[in-house]
Amino acid sequence: MGKHIIEEAQRCLQCKNPQCQKGCPAGTPIKEMIASMLRGDMLNAGERLFMNNPLSVICALICPHEKFCEGHCILGRKQSPVQISSIENYISSYFLDQVRLTPAISTGKMVAVIGSGPAGITVAFMLAQRGYGVTIFESSERIGGVLQYGIPEYRLPKSILREIEEMLVSIGVKIRPNIRIGPVLTIDDLFRDGYQSVFIGTGVWNPRPLRIPGESLGHVHYAINYLKNPDVYSLGRRVCVIGAGNVAMDVARTALRKGVREVYVLYRRGEADIPATHYEYEYARIEGVRFEFFKSPTAIVPEGVRYVETEMRPCEDGTEALYCVEERTGLFAADSVIIAASQSPANTLVSSTPDLQTNSSGLLLTGEDGQTSVPGIYASGDVVTGAKTVVEAVRFSKKAAEAMVKYMEREAKGSGEDRPLASCLENPVIKNKKI
Ligand SMILES: Cc1cc2nc3c(=O)[nH]c(=O)nc-3n(C[C@H](O)[C@H](O)[C@H](O)COP(=O)(O)OP(=O)(O)OC[C@H]3O[C@@H](n4cnc5c(N)ncnc54)[C@H](O)[C@@H]3O)c2cc1C
Ligand code: SF4
Repeated sequence: MGKHIIEEAQRCLQCKNPQCQKGCPAGTPIKEMIASMLRGDMLNAGERLFMNNPLSVICALICPHEKFCEGHCILGRKQSPVQISSIENYISSYFLDQVRLTPAISTGKMVAVIGSGPAGITVAFMLAQRGYGVTIFESSERIGGVLQYGIPEYRLPKSILREIEEMLVSIGVKIRPNIRIGPVLTIDDLFRDGYQSVFIGTGVWNPRPLRIPGESLGHVHYAINYLKNPDVYSLGRRVCVIGAGNVAMDVARTALRKGVREVYVLYRRGEADIPATHYEYEYARIEGVRFEFFKSPTAIVPEGVRYVETEMRPCEDGTEALYCVEERTGLFAADSVIIAASQSPANTLVSSTPDLQTNSSGLLLTGEDGQTSVPGIYASGDVVTGAKTVVEAVRFSKKAAEAMVKYMEREAKGSGEDRPLASCLENPVIKNKKI
């Protein structure tokens, strides 16, 4: 591994105007990280990555790199791009092993973070590093959100999340697992108890139904529910996954790993339109997932999925549109059916905080800095943008954390408590580096 990583790093041209950094939603300083590593200054390289993105070690494993950093590397125009993700993972893993964090000097102010996915973790790191007393409220048993309960172990080892959790605790973050804010404790209760600002990073956890007959039958499941704990499902020998995005690929590959003999993905469009990234699709294919294109489900029955065939037809304006061919219908036999047709937010917080405004899909409405319709409440990640990526949740959450600091500073000034705050980037709480 070492030789390969070093050779990849040596291929970097150290461009004056690095496109890779522009292609990364978090603006990762890729050129500098590679230069530091090749100089032998691994801790400096790791610190740069961590301070820019506390989930760098995870992003390096699961970002759609071909779309982001590596897709923008100039070498990729004529040959293969520098494998930035492998270099980043090597440096970030080393850094997490070596570094020990300690709490920052307290500002005496408390912040509540609802949800411990990538958005909540980013905000918690940024605010705790500035001396805010952060408490995370998480409805599940463990932190991580989709990282813990969605992305399968073979793509993201859960041991990394335990390391992240230890780091959060070491800088003073308090974690309250198994508590859903909304039904019992509400956001009003949090303000009553002295939290100066509240962050919402609750993601999108309601599966989107297809609204076709048969969806409530006993052999039908939703992707996001299945991925939470695949071991509790008895799927039978032949499974049909409806939908062809990345979540569908995770479901199909997990089902094969859990012993299902035949896994089919049913998709209403063709291979060219598959929403999953190229590599996720290719991995699914080579692992044995089979694809049935141009079939649109119309009903689920005990024997499987009834469908109508579809086809692309030319339109007058030169484009193409998808049509159902009504006379070509069929039954796709399956013991179990898993629906992977995207997700939307659960509304427990909104129903208990009526002033929070949402759009018609239930996503929270915020400004660019994550400010919601209620002063002091900020939000970012999937609950605002809809299903996106980890690195995009990190980028947005950094902005939200900055805005929360400004809000709390303004509030402190208003109440006569003017206190300067240490800058997280200039005054990191990284200490006691092991050698
Ligand atoms: C199966 C799957 C695979 C994916 N694969 C990738 C990938 O390979 N690469 C990539 O970049 N992105 C991937 N994504 C997308 C990515 O994981 C999300 O964009 C990201 O996790 C969003 O982060 P978040 O913090 O906004 O929300 P989440 O990760 O959803 O976290 C929200 C957290 O809030 C908690 N919560 C919800 N309501 C409450 C409440 N009322 N009180 C307390 N806690 C609450 C939830 O339990 C959860 O822990 C994938 C998504 C899925 C579903
Ligand atoms: S965070 Fe993701 S997109 Fe950005 S450099 Fe790292 S792997 Fe690439």
